[in-house]
Amino acid sequence: MNSDIHVLFVSACTADETVLTTLLVRESEGEGIHLSAASSAQAFFDAVYSEERYQVIVIDDRQPWSDWQSVAATCAKSRPNALLVLLTSAERADQHEAALSAGAAAVYPRNSAGLIALARLVIKLAAQERSFSLRLDGRAGEGDSDTAPDQDREKLVYAVSHDLQDPLQLARRYAAILNEDFENELGESGSKVLGHLQFNLNRTQEMLDELLDYSRLQGAKPDRQPVDFNELLDEVIGLYKLSLEEIGGSITRQHSLPTLVVDRRQFQRVLQNLIGNAIKFRSERPLHITVRAQRVRNEWRIGVKDNGIGIAEEDAKRIFGMFERAGGAEEYPGTGMGLAICKRIIHNHGGRIWVRSSLGSGSVFIFSVPQAGDTAEVLAG
Ligand code: ADP
Repeated sequence: MNSDIHVLFVSACTADETVLTTLLVRESEGEGIHLSAASSAQAFFDAVYSEERYQVIVIDDRQPWSDWQSVAATCAKSRPNALLVLLTSAERADQHEAALSAGAAAVYPRNSAGLIALARLVIKLAAQERSFSLRLDGRAGEGDSDTAPDQDREKLVYAVSHDLQDPLQLARRYAAILNEDFENELGESGSKVLGHLQFNLNRTQEMLDELLDYSRLQGAKPDRQPVDFNELLDEVIGLYKLSLEEIGGSITRQHSLPTLVVDRRQFQRVLQNLIGNAIKFRSERPLHITVRAQRVRNEWRIGVKDNGIGIAEEDAKRIFGMFERAGGAEEYPGTGMGLAICKRIIHNHGGRIWVRSSLGSGSVFIFSVPQAGDTAEVLAG
């Protein structure tokens, strides 16, 4: 596994580039750290759209060819996993705030102290990357004899999402203490920065909780019982009653829905997620959702149709993956885990889920659940 760190330095200042390279080589003996500089628009676009895996992108706030906000926005979009760092000449709080809102994880002054701190950050990341890759390689080795790589990955996802809960909760608690006990000392811009911090910590918590749920569902045997989908749908509609009234949306069901032998709690989650998404991704048109069921050979198919914003063809498969969202979804709240969780629940019941949609003309999410003719037969199976 490649554990090298690749840094993209977006700056026209060759002196800073030389200083940073020297610091990186001096402090780490240059081991496993690669610095590429982009001093022009052409070099920047060539680099961000290249195959190179940049883990860190450092942006100088003085770009002769663009403003740093546009550079940061391009990086956040095309390199969402890279750590963005802003080098700034101004020690101004509003600059820090703007940088954090633009997706930067850190801001350093463009002087020798700032460059030293930046070099240390990169060296620390390189060390972490090395130890993480060693652990991963170790785990893969352990699993070679009796477990498939997929299972190792699952175990890792579970371990990471579980182990990160404690430090994250601690960070949230400290942020809450700052908010409650030091509110007057923070001032206006300090409070805003704390607001961004709390927002991002809460979002991370949400993502971690969903990752843990997703991981717990791996191979979990459903607790099957006969479930009347008419009742289940009524319960879910009840949960969204206020939102539907507020936006003037409606839900109709075509014919009666079947009784299926499934895990009730899990299928409530599936319906809740599909209907919640239909509400969230509604268009300008008054929202109308239709739920219908159809028996096809030995399975039931249930479809949730909406007249919302729709999904582009190239996104239709991807959105069922972990943390995957369609283009334009950044404007809506969410983590991109809901459909991955639905897919896993449905797979655990032996079924499939897919979508038929096109941009601007609504979507139909369809899931199938294999069922023999008789409830007792399914329960016995
Ligand atoms: P989230 O809703 O948290 O983004 P999901 O996994 O539930 O995550 O959905 C993944 C993505 O699929 C959404 O971000 C959105 O882009 C797209 N999507 C899901 N449902 C719909 C829908 N009914 N209409 C349009 N797009 C949808």
